[in-house]
Amino acid sequence: MRVLLVTPPMTQLNTPYPATAYLTGFLRAHGSALGVTTSQADASLALFLRLFSAPWIERMADALRDRAREPGAKPPMPASIVHFLGHAPRYAATVEPAIRFLQGRDPSLALRIVGRDFLPEGPRFAFLEQAAEAGNDPLRAAFGNLGTTDQARYLASLFVDDLADAWRDGIDPRFELARYGERLAASAPSFDPLETALLSEPTLVDQALDGLARDLVAQHRPDVVGMSVPFPGNVYGAFRMARAMRAAAPGVTFVLGGGWVNTELRALREPRVFDYFDYVTLDDGERPLLNLLGRLAGRRAALVRTYVRKDGAVALENDATQHDFPAKDTGTPTYDGLPLADYVSVLEMLNPMHRLWSDGRWNKITLAHGCYWRKCSFCDVSLDYIGRYDRPATDVVIERVRALIAETGQTGFHLVDEAAPPAGMRALASRLLDERLSITWWGNIRFEKTFTPQLCALLARSGCVAVSGGLEVASDRLLELMKKGVTVAQVARVTRALTNAGIMVHAYLMYGFPTETAQETVDALERVRQLFEAGCIQSAYWHRFSATAHSPIGLEPKRYGITLRPPLDVTFAHNDVEFDDPVGTDHDLLGAGLRKALYNYMLGFGLDADLGVWFEPPRSMARGAGRRVRRARAVPKTTVPRDLIARCLGE
Ligand code: SF4
Repeated sequence: MRVLLVTPPMTQLNTPYPATAYLTGFLRAHGSALGVTTSQADASLALFLRLFSAPWIERMADALRDRAREPGAKPPMPASIVHFLGHAPRYAATVEPAIRFLQGRDPSLALRIVGRDFLPEGPRFAFLEQAAEAGNDPLRAAFGNLGTTDQARYLASLFVDDLADAWRDGIDPRFELARYGERLAASAPSFDPLETALLSEPTLVDQALDGLARDLVAQHRPDVVGMSVPFPGNVYGAFRMARAMRAAAPGVTFVLGGGWVNTELRALREPRVFDYFDYVTLDDGERPLLNLLGRLAGRRAALVRTYVRKDGAVALENDATQHDFPAKDTGTPTYDGLPLADYVSVLEMLNPMHRLWSDGRWNKITLAHGCYWRKCSFCDVSLDYIGRYDRPATDVVIERVRALIAETGQTGFHLVDEAAPPAGMRALASRLLDERLSITWWGNIRFEKTFTPQLCALLARSGCVAVSGGLEVASDRLLELMKKGVTVAQVARVTRALTNAGIMVHAYLMYGFPTETAQETVDALERVRQLFEAGCIQSAYWHRFSATAHSPIGLEPKRYGITLRPPLDVTFAHNDVEFDDPVGTDHDLLGAGLRKALYNYMLGFGLDADLGVWFEPPRSMARGAGRRVRRARAVPKTTVPRDLIARCLGE
């Protein structure tokens, strides 16, 4: 039985999403008794490479020109399209060299790209001109005189962004570089919008994807296709590919699983899903998939956490006596079959931590299954992927590290744990040093006090270069309420210890938590400002809080002072839940200011500016002097002492 595991579009372009690599490794270890052979494909990368090729850029230009000639076609076109059509032959001529450069295949092209005369430069480059008019040179500031390759990578990434804008604005509004049709699936109570999109006239992007799906079937001739859907932005692509593959190969069995399914399809009642997929599996795919393949191979195997359609309705088959495979027995992930040399490293933000996410190929590995803390009230702790903690012995981790280096020839590792356990990190670091195994690694942690200067130094010596972790709302009252288990002072000390050891730090920040006041938000911003100023963190990102169905807040809203709105009639996807917060803070208004402040802090700008400047309305808006402007001006002043973080650090 031939099994093909697919990552549907779109995910990150620089490295494979790990789910198919994990499942392929598992099925190669456990599926041979069933006669299973497993291959994998990254349709996300493949779609990108197809759309960003000369023939498809020419097709996009033809389609846009035809549309502009149609009677009734109305100007004005978006700036992205105007620029693209004005330079279409140059885009077609340069797109493939630029992509080859971003794949690391043609480094000498850097010199031509930084000459600024090779690639067409559209709206995404405009800020460089604006900065020059203001007497600034962000390229020189970021890359100096000798950073030619990085500068060229940055410019080529802006070029890719311009083309992605043209695909989105001119051809298919659902298309983005890291997601496709996300709104059709994210917390979508009804299947109707997704199916309407699937049955509508295909766009050029759809046509490219349909062709790709047919090519994969012809190449792999699978008996079973498993689609692993990590995020809402992969769902439309998965259904679209299943539809095209099914039309090309009607006898194939289709299975849907992955992170989005595990989170959002727990209340699935929509039978039309099974027009596209025969089976939908929940939580870790290893056990459900193995049992399903056993049944397809003619064994008397019970299904585990698997939805099927029975008599026209959705039914969950689940033999609860069967257990998941422990983390030590899931096998070594393998990238075999994925075109590792084709991944595209982009550099879209002038921030060293953001760079880790989008630049370079990383082997993905976990130290444990689930989270060792599993208490945060906003997190999906009731679900298996967080709530079931299982840490294999360090021997197993080291064996996987060695196997991945041998397979890929690459020594960069991204620990994709939800929160890497400090004990596991210490053990890994010690073994790497003992065995003189040189790797470069980074991952997500909790900023807990275990990270002493000594441990941070050990981690750095073993190759740890960066960590990310949740500071969430930098307010001790709210950190307590969310059961994060850290305080602002502790985060300051831990992040300083990490930074002193030479480990970059990115902080996940949150605003809009239940009962959060405007004063608390502004005070949190001041603490974040001081953390940047003190060199504790180098990068951060604000997330707007959303209550989710499987978190303690979604399950017990009263304990957090909010009321959930009456539930919708959910037959399809369910995750975010609407709620009312009696405090009534205008989080939309504050969010814009928070993002503006952070963007500047990450570039080292505005650290001494009064916080109020970030919440000032733009001049054009101020002239209108509306209610919103008055509210923006009424943002409270911070009550946090200017030396709070310095005092936490004992300075
Ligand atoms: S937010 Fe992070 S640390 Fe908290 S329970 Fe979830 S995974 Fe664990």
